[in-house]
Amino acid sequence: SSPRPVQRVAVLGATGSIGVATLDVIQNLHRCDPVHDWQVASLSGHSQIDSLVNLAADCHIAPERIVVSDPEKQAEAARALNSAKIRTDSEESPNRSGLDCGLDVGSEALVRAATEKDVDVVVAAIVGRAGLESTLAAVHAGKRVALANKETLVVAGPVVTQAVQENGAELLPVDSEHSAIFQCLAEARARKSQTPAGSDDQTDLAAQTDPTTNWPGVRRLILTASGGPFRDWTMAQMRDATVEQALAHPTWKMGAKITIDSASMMNKALEVIEAKWLFDVPADKIEVVVHPQSLIHSFVEFEDGSLIAQISPPDMRMPIQYALTYPRRLPCPSPSLDRTSPWDMTLCPADPERFPALALGFEVARVGGTAGAVVNAANETAVDLFLKRQIRFTDIPELCRRTLQDHHHESSPTLDQLLNLDVWARSHAEKLAGPK
Ligand code: NAD
Ligand code: MG
Repeated sequence: SSPRPVQRVAVLGATGSIGVATLDVIQNLHRCDPVHDWQVASLSGHSQIDSLVNLAADCHIAPERIVVSDPEKQAEAARALNSAKIRTDSEESPNRSGLDCGLDVGSEALVRAATEKDVDVVVAAIVGRAGLESTLAAVHAGKRVALANKETLVVAGPVVTQAVQENGAELLPVDSEHSAIFQCLAEARARKSQTPAGSDDQTDLAAQTDPTTNWPGVRRLILTASGGPFRDWTMAQMRDATVEQALAHPTWKMGAKITIDSASMMNKALEVIEAKWLFDVPADKIEVVVHPQSLIHSFVEFEDGSLIAQISPPDMRMPIQYALTYPRRLPCPSPSLDRTSPWDMTLCPADPERFPALALGFEVARVGGTAGAVVNAANETAVDLFLKRQIRFTDIPELCRRTLQDHHHESSPTLDQLLNLDVWARSHAEKLAGPK
């Protein structure tokens, strides 16, 4: 039989929660995909050298290169690669020492990994604004980008979406809500793309396309939110919330930053902004509902009142795999919903009074321009300060609000302006937070 065509994947942010889940998915695809042969081109980590090297050593598909984005860690990384033990599963060949894999260092190395000629898919799983350059570089190189790094769209949505168009890149959501909406929009997307221009169908389509959502027959996108650990807490209780309490997410196991964002519901705010750019839908056509079990990952509401939802257990491997294999569906290591015992699916309205971050997210999605870069930077700063126990939990949305209010809004900023504002908003939020 002829060899299967290779899909080479660069996993940026491989040592994180999404990165590790991605490797599990790729190893499973390597075994079970009848169409493609999946290979790992590169794995990146920032400063946790041991986890990165262990990940590379334990991977059944040897990565060609590891990328250490923190330039200070070059010597440590080289030492760790030399002394790494490679696990062999056979009894005859004992574990060898020294890992035969390349090493590239520094933030430029992320861009090299994202744009490498024979890389097919870039998994953008770095947390925060730090993922922007490599994600944007992958888009410019026309790659398929499996996007977990929502902050890139929050900071530079218009720049990124325009670059996707211009370079024939594919931007596929990994965020579970956006993957759900992407799946729910399948039929609308097919109608949008299959109708030839100038045909009668085209006139039909134009008549049916709601000019306020840009999608045929679509009334609204409805994002679900778990509500996080403080779903039922009062403002007074949240004021005294500890770092440990905020890190104890009821349904998802994730990196620290997004876990804090989930507790403040800033994560949902960022996701409203992400949805606006990914699906080209205005803010007032996006809604948030609270769904504590995290089984329904989001809905699309159609003109006739029908709601289409995507349901699966809370496991990121499913949306990650779909972004890799789209439009194909293959067996996935994530479990399916257990139907042998009763299960509940509760839905209730979100409360923007107790979660002011949510209202802020809608405001940013509405005004666009420089607002996303400012709120994102203020939030990253505030989350850092909270994790260092220098501010209160309820100071997080407050610092974001005040930083947004103090900045000079521009409606069509360049990337450079956005990056400058990112720096400004970080120092401004720190100043507002007061002395340590
Ligand atoms: P994490 O903290 O577990 O991992 C972050 C990764 O980014 C690590 O590999 C780390 O080495 C790397 N990194 C950190 N700082 C860096 C820097 N300055 N330069 C380069 N690399 C750096 O985070 P996570 O939970 O895996 O989340 C990653 C992204 O995916 C975030 O944008 C998050 O919002 C998004 N996301 C995560 C989940 C989830 O279930 N974890 C779900 C949806 C979306
Ligand atoms: Mg999400």
